[in-house]
Amino acid sequence: MSQALVAPLLDIKAFAKAASTLSGHDALEKFERLREESHALGTDHWVEWRAEGELREDLAGREDVWLHLSANVTLSQTCQRCLGPAEILVALERSFRFVATEEVAEEQDDEAEEDVLVMSREFDLAALIEDELLMAMPLVPLHEVCPTEVKLSAEDPDFEAPSGQKPNPFAVLAKLKIDKSGT
Ligand SMILES: [Zn+2]
Repeated sequence: MSQALVAPLLDIKAFAKAASTLSGHDALEKFERLREESHALGTDHWVEWRAEGELREDLAGREDVWLHLSANVTLSQTCQRCLGPAEILVALERSFRFVATEEVAEEQDDEAEEDVLVMSREFDLAALIEDELLMAMPLVPLHEVCPTEVKLSAEDPDFEAPSGQKPNPFAVLAKLKIDKSGT
C-alpha cells in the first residue's frame, strides 16, 4: 500500500535537519477529499507540491524546526456568477513551525504569524497538503471574467484580434462629425 501514498510519512525533525526537499506531481484522484471538490478529474488535474525542511535559530539561539510548503491544483467548479464551468486555480505557499507538544502548539498558534504544528516522526505530509489546499479554495468560485463573449469570439474561425479589428466607437464618431461638417 505504501506506493499509494502521495507523500511519505516524514520524520519532521530529521527532514529539517537534513534541509531536505520533497516534491510531487500527483493525480487529483489520489486526494479523496479534494477530488470531491472537482467536477472533472483526469490528465488536466494534478496536485503539484513542494516541501522543504529547515532548521532555523530563534532569537534565543535555539533551533526551530520549520517546514515550507507550496502547492497548487486546478479544480473544475461552477462559477457562481454565470453558472458555467470554471477551472479554478488554488495555490498556496505557507510555512509551519514545529513544537514538541499539543499544549505548546495551542499556546503559540494564536500569537505566531506562522502556523504551529506538533512535531512527529510520522508526519502525514499528504494530509497537510490536502488540508491546506482545501482551506485555500475560494468560498465562492468565480471566473475572473465570465467567458460568454470570449467564447463566441474563440469559436469564430476568423477570430484573430478583436480589439484591433473592431472599429473604435470614438473613431467612428469622429468620422461622422468630419463627414457632417464636410458636407
Ligand atoms: Zn462565470
